[in-house]
Amino acid sequence: MSVDTETCKHQIVYFGVTNVNYNQRTIGSVDVWRCAICKKRFCEEKQLGIDSIVDYVGMPKIDPDEKWAVLVRKLFKGKDRWKLVRLKQNGTIKVENPDDKVIELPVKNFAVDDPNHASFLIDDHINKAIEI
Ligand SMILES: [Zn+2]
Repeated sequence: MSVDTETCKHQIVYFGVTNVNYNQRTIGSVDVWRCAICKKRFCEEKQLGIDSIVDYVGMPKIDPDEKWAVLVRKLFKGKDRWKLVRLKQNGTIKVENPDDKVIELPVKNFAVDDPNHASFLIDDHINKAIEI
């Protein structure tokens, strides 16, 4: 019997980490938790040097048809270069850039389709590093 991820009273356990590297230096990471019952995954963005407190009550939400991903903004540097996002299989994603402009990017098959951006699915990079 499968468990409905939307009605499950999640029991969240630490699952792994995805490191974000820039010029072969780790500049941040995404912590990944998973519900032991329904296997739904929860992610939290961590910028190096900025403390964040884990708060299970405030676990970021994700819809059943979305996947966690690291969005790479090729036009920006350092911590502005990446952001944790949720991607649908197809459609668009609205992203607020560091310059406060909101842009809309096309998404195809859980990947952004734009020359100035790239994306990496967290599911494919658990306990691995992403070079951005
Ligand atoms: Zn659950």
